[in-house]
Amino acid sequence: MTRDSARRDAGGMLAAGARRVGAFGARVASRDGVRSTRAATRRGRTWRWRARTTAARGATTRATARDDGVDARRCRGLNESGARLSNSGAESAETTPNGRGPVVYWCDRDRRLANNDALARAMELANARRAPLVVAVHAGRDLMGDGVGGARRAVFALEGLKELEGDLRRRGVETLTTTGDDAARGILETCARVDASAVVCDFTPLREGRAARRAVANVVGCPMIEVDAHNVVPAWVTSDKQEYAARTIRPKIHRNLAEFLTAPKVLGDLIAAPDSLTPSETDWDALIDEARRRGAHVPEVRGVKPGERAALAALLDPNEDCFLPQRLMLYGERNKPTTPRAVSRLSPYLNHGQLSPRRAAWEAAQLRGIVDDEAIDSYLEELIVRRELSDNFCLYNPHYDSLQGASQWAQDTLALHASDKREFVYDYGTLERANTHDELWNAAQKELYYFGRMHGFMRMYWAKKILEWTSSPEVALQTSIKLNDAYALDGLDPNGYVGCMWSIAGVHDQGWKERAVFGKVRYMNYAGCKRKFKIEEYVQRVDDEVKALLAR
Ligand SMILES: Cc1cc2nc3c(=O)[nH]c(=O)nc-3n(C[C@H](O)[C@H](O)[C@H](O)COP(=O)(O)OP(=O)(O)OC[C@H]3O[C@@H](n4cnc5c(N)ncnc54)[C@H](O)[C@@H]3O)c2cc1C
Repeated sequence: MTRDSARRDAGGMLAAGARRVGAFGARVASRDGVRSTRAATRRGRTWRWRARTTAARGATTRATARDDGVDARRCRGLNESGARLSNSGAESAETTPNGRGPVVYWCDRDRRLANNDALARAMELANARRAPLVVAVHAGRDLMGDGVGGARRAVFALEGLKELEGDLRRRGVETLTTTGDDAARGILETCARVDASAVVCDFTPLREGRAARRAVANVVGCPMIEVDAHNVVPAWVTSDKQEYAARTIRPKIHRNLAEFLTAPKVLGDLIAAPDSLTPSETDWDALIDEARRRGAHVPEVRGVKPGERAALAALLDPNEDCFLPQRLMLYGERNKPTTPRAVSRLSPYLNHGQLSPRRAAWEAAQLRGIVDDEAIDSYLEELIVRRELSDNFCLYNPHYDSLQGASQWAQDTLALHASDKREFVYDYGTLERANTHDELWNAAQKELYYFGRMHGFMRMYWAKKILEWTSSPEVALQTSIKLNDAYALDGLDPNGYVGCMWSIAGVHDQGWKERAVFGKVRYMNYAGCKRKFKIEEYVQRVDDEVKALLAR
């Protein structure tokens, strides 16, 4: 099955899945218990049948969804007492072994107030215990500007956290920030300082974040649970193994979609007074200045306003040229870099946890009847199936960013062609400065370098040419990941690792006609792009944008 036919096939399934979500939306919207009469329709009957079987299956393996509050299947314990808390979903003497200190929410991947299940679960626990809630943030290398993403990613993240701290304080929640290279140590310091009675963290499939969570859970001495606030269907509910491709994960996601793609809820209020011992003292402006100074190797980009408010505006505010609903109507043009408004450009917000993917999906799914089903289905396919396939890959494949993580056929074919003659070989600096012989590739790299973004279609071409123009597949993979993580505002993300692995190492793809350098890995070329869109128009637009930027 080709990628295109897989997508067409997905369209139909998504339409069915999202129609069920529509029916589900009507039900949850009436939270006073009145059931929607739409359930009487044929469509409704289909949905109800699916929902019953899914819930029944879930009950035998995990705690079932609670009617109110965060679905227990989004949560899992990271230590023994955390597992007890996560399984029961409620409080007991056993789960509160060390008194009634604050509940700590370690805010790492999901940095927002609204539609954040990890924060909501921490709030529920705090309220059940009548305990204060404290948010712990650790500003490690990346947030200090020392990471590969320099000031570009750090300042975007810190500005968002500064806004979040203010919003949390208005709800009686203080934020404590630590710095240093060791995230686990920083979070443990905060937990010890406030005498935490429970820790809730968000979920990441990436190795450093997972190692830090394990290290905290092992020694913190109170229950610790992890909440998947990033995937519409929690990664561990979708699958307990690495999925082969979109076509294998898609039905698993769809099976659960109606239950998890639910209406956004408003975060409850904190019952207990804030802990008087933990007033926040983070000087965000000083941190931001420091990150700017240390991260000068990758300067900030202008034009993408950071923070949760800006993220919601980019999704929904017509004054901000928002994505929904008007630009979603253009989504059929998404593969043409000459129509940049056809894509959402929301990935930096999703990646920095400033926008909930579930919220974006929910809002798009409500547009049936206003926007073409095809556009909605394609967007949900990218936002849910493709994005969650990336989390799945990184969660279950320890080599998610190296050739070792590729399928055997791809490793074999790349090895066989590793010493093929390359017509051009460029070093990192030449690629970074967009100095190749190919104006199309250079334009894409300039988008990345100057504006922190690259059109989704060009990202594939860009990475495939790096395979063609570097000395070996290993060098190609490391170069593409390094450039992407350094310059993309949405970099350092499972989507980035999987995007590079798909382009260079055939991950989630199949073998194609064998050719030099690529072997059986799918090939892309300039002529193919020329057939798809007006190359000169794209190159001219990027050049104009760069000129305007440099003239400022
Ligand atoms: C070499 C390469 C590198 C990439 N690096 C990144 C990266 O660092 N961060 C990142 O978020 N995406 C990355 N992608 C995936 C994809 O290109 C971007 O998600 C997309 O271009 C973001 O722009 P958008 O928000 O306008 O997307 P839209 O077209 O509006 O799509 C909606 C959302 O769906 C998700 N999505 C879209 N395409 C994909 C895909 N192919 N795989 C997984 N999820 C997808 C994203 O979350 C995106 O925001 C990469 C792809 C390739 C080929």
